[in-house]
Amino acid sequence: MYGFFYRIQRFMAGRNGVDKLNRFLFVFYIVLSVFSIFIHSLVFYLIQLSFAGLIVFRTLSKNIYRRSKENLLYIKCETAVKNFFIRNKNRIRDRKTHSYIKCKHCKAKLRVKRNKGKHTVRCPKCRQEFSVTIR
Ligand SMILES: [Zn+2]
Repeated sequence: MYGFFYRIQRFMAGRNGVDKLNRFLFVFYIVLSVFSIFIHSLVFYLIQLSFAGLIVFRTLSKNIYRRSKENLLYIKCETAVKNFFIRNKNRIRDRKTHSYIKCKHCKAKLRVKRNKGKHTVRCPKCRQEFSVTIR
């Protein structure tokens, strides 16, 4: 048994292996497999097969530089999507105590206390002051 793992280790040396994008593709592949129980179509089967091929290709690829670039792009997109949901969750949570406004100079989103009336706000990003009316 030791020789078997050693041989696999030697085979995988210098290869990309499993990264975050591969894990996501695998989960997507599993979801497609579940859907394929209900949908019997050749096109669907080919899409599923191409995903499996892509996972195997990315795992065994020796072009680690390119695979890590793809992985970084995926991580960037994943982070953007996660941040979108976190931001909206916080916005809903704080809707009674805080108000969200946009900076008139740099368009940054600012979170200010919900005190009714006219206020002067300084943007922490661009340091410009502007007046806002909170209702
Ligand atoms: Zn600003």
